[in-house]
Amino acid sequence: MEPLFLKPYFQPKIWGGRKLETIFDYDIPEGDIGECWAISGHQHGQSVVINGEYAGTKLGDLWNEHRELFGDAKGDVFPLLTKILDAEDSLSVQVHPDNAYSKEHEGELGKTECWYIIDAEEGAELIYGHNAKTHEELNSMLENGQWNDLLRKVPVKKGDFFYVPSGTVHALNKGIMVLETQQSSDTTYRMYDYDRVDKKTGEKRELHIKQSEDTITVPHVDPKINIETKKNGKNLINTFVHSPQSPFFAVYEWLIKDELNLQHKDGKYTLASVITGSGKLVTDGNEYELKKGDHFLIPAQISNWTISGDLQLISSESEEK
Ligand code: ZN
Repeated sequence: MEPLFLKPYFQPKIWGGRKLETIFDYDIPEGDIGECWAISGHQHGQSVVINGEYAGTKLGDLWNEHRELFGDAKGDVFPLLTKILDAEDSLSVQVHPDNAYSKEHEGELGKTECWYIIDAEEGAELIYGHNAKTHEELNSMLENGQWNDLLRKVPVKKGDFFYVPSGTVHALNKGIMVLETQQSSDTTYRMYDYDRVDKKTGEKRELHIKQSEDTITVPHVDPKINIETKKNGKNLINTFVHSPQSPFFAVYEWLIKDELNLQHKDGKYTLASVITGSGKLVTDGNEYELKKGDHFLIPAQISNWTISGDLQLISSESEEK
């Protein structure tokens, strides 16, 4: 059994730029590219296996046809989506629904997400949460466009981590690059888009005020995040979130300086992305080069593996049964 290396799918966005090419060396399409869907089985843009016996297969098809790779996990769709986002300009102020609302109205999963800040310009900030105390106050601020009163702004720097449960008002503002781990969903309710006009269509993007009112958590509560750090020689493992506080995914940072042995939590599969540096992955006596921008999935059949070199990865596991 081999790890599955994946080729990303790239999405143009009104707020995107060219950093996925200049920083990650990806061969991206022309235009403003906002999102690299690095590990994706979502029908709006799937990643494709590039090595081994499944080369050329889309991740969503592997989920359907070879569930043993995923420890015979349940679920209609591959549950997670790993992205890298390049916010050259600010994203719309938005909210995502939970599973129940999304299933009923959109026919897909809800979206809880989280961000590891890969890079942020001096003075960069993001929108996280809101100041309304009641639904009435929220609806009135939304309908009257009182954005300065409503939105909470948070300063942000490289290395920060944010957990964004469904129902949280949020937006990445300009000058931020993140690795996002999220539920596999493409449902976004926009409440404010800075009155921007899309260069291609000449139109403003659609807003979703009613859906936002339905799904925003009131009042906003900051989730409690306790980052746990484990030392292993010169290497570090940071656990950002896990179940039960984070019911859909566990997310880790592997900071490797020499050599680190790793294994899954109880027979699961693991998603991993190299965000800086380079090194080697060894599993079952096979050796693979790793470099910044590589994404791979370690199937459930591989019980342990070793990564060596000088590199930083963000990894995740599904927390669903
Ligand atoms: Zn979002």
